[in-house]
Amino acid sequence: MKTLLLWDIDGTLITSGGAGIRALRPALHDLFGITAALDDIDYAGRTDRHIFRQIFVRHGIPDTEENFLRYLDGYIAKLPGELANPNAYVLPGVPVLLAAAAKRPDLTQALLTGNVCRAARVKLAHHGLWDFFPFGAFADDSEHRNDLGPHALRRAREHTGVDFPPGRVWVIGDTPHDIACGRAIGARTLAVATGSHTVAALAEHQPTAVLSDLNDAAAFWRLIDAV
Ligand SMILES: [Mg+2]
Repeated sequence: MKTLLLWDIDGTLITSGGAGIRALRPALHDLFGITAALDDIDYAGRTDRHIFRQIFVRHGIPDTEENFLRYLDGYIAKLPGELANPNAYVLPGVPVLLAAAAKRPDLTQALLTGNVCRAARVKLAHHGLWDFFPFGAFADDSEHRNDLGPHALRRAREHTGVDFPPGRVWVIGDTPHDIACGRAIGARTLAVATGSHTVAALAEHQPTAVLSDLNDAAAFWRLIDAV
């Protein structure tokens, strides 16, 4: 029996030191002539599509597919420069876990993230982590995070030929939205307090398990392998 690990990116695998917001600001100015701090937007656990829509509504920009694609291009163009900052780094323990999982034939790992695929690739490639993930579900698939799970399961089936039962799927993320999204497909959920939420705040949402970080590989594998 194989197990599927579905990883969130921001606050779970990496932290970007605010690079995302700092890329969104100049793109908003260059493309729409609007100067805004964008610190009043709800980012954590939200999809890029949902974040863009919030910005459009807040600043009176017509919420069209054309504007979405223009803003996305502008954002992606600014992202690499902003990721080159000392506060953007891979979270502790992550490279060890990803490398160990990649060596195990009984595990498949992929992404389940609110990033659009292009942003996920830029962020993870910056840290040399992109090649760990042969597929994923992204904001390209849906604006709503809870809709992403079925896309991840379908791609898992296409890539591996395995129909993963929910009990052999782990959704790993740093926000209550990740927990809800895992629950929506009946998956097990591992919450990690390396993003914007504490262990106690995450525990309130009753994930299958919660860890303060991913530094304790033995604790991580005890959870995963207990399934
Ligand atoms: Mg996250």
